[in-house]
Amino acid sequence: HYRCRSAFKLLEIDDKHRILRPGLCVLDCGAAPGAWSQVAVERVNALGTDPAVPTGFVLGVDLLRISPLEGAVFLSERDIADPSTVRAIQGLLPAEKVDVVLSDMAPNATGIKELDHQKLISLCLGLLSLSQSILKPKGTMLCKFWDGRESHLLQNRLKEQFQDVRTIKPQASRKDSAESYYLARLYKGK
Ligand code: SAM
Repeated sequence: HYRCRSAFKLLEIDDKHRILRPGLCVLDCGAAPGAWSQVAVERVNALGTDPAVPTGFVLGVDLLRISPLEGAVFLSERDIADPSTVRAIQGLLPAEKVDVVLSDMAPNATGIKELDHQKLISLCLGLLSLSQSILKPKGTMLCKFWDGRESHLLQNRLKEQFQDVRTIKPQASRKDSAESYYLARLYKGK
């Protein structure tokens, strides 16, 4: 019932690392078509389906249009790098900040590996600076990157700002050789 096979990557990562729990507030960046948001809605109990555990919240953002999903709030046709998007996100959150920032964002690939790599690293670095205003202290960030020369730059920044940073290569993305994720936990925040 997932909108996209990418759901299986998040399910796999979450089964192993337990980043989504009932009651958590999640920002899903690059959410279209919405499969990660579907997983997040289930795992944070955003619909309140299980009354015995806390109810969470999921907000998805994408450059593209995202079809409505029960339990999630979407900001469609928005660039995460645009300051007005940050304000719109803040206006929609039930609390000031989120517990988890997910990013499966990917720029349109040019086919030039080095360039695509750099574009995605910049996107992640932008998201990291934005996290200062939207991620709770002790929060988690999971972001996709394409491995290359500048990966260590992003990794170092994450290590400055989170207590625990690891590189994850889900089975479900093995066929895409360059694709990996950084899982950064315990945001030092402010
Ligand atoms: N996780 C999604 C799912 O499971 O349905 C799939 C995400 S897809 C691999 C990557 C998405 O990132 C695309 O929909 C793209 O439009 C979005 N994206 C790329 N750059 C973005 C930006 N600057 N702001 C918002 N979304 C962006």
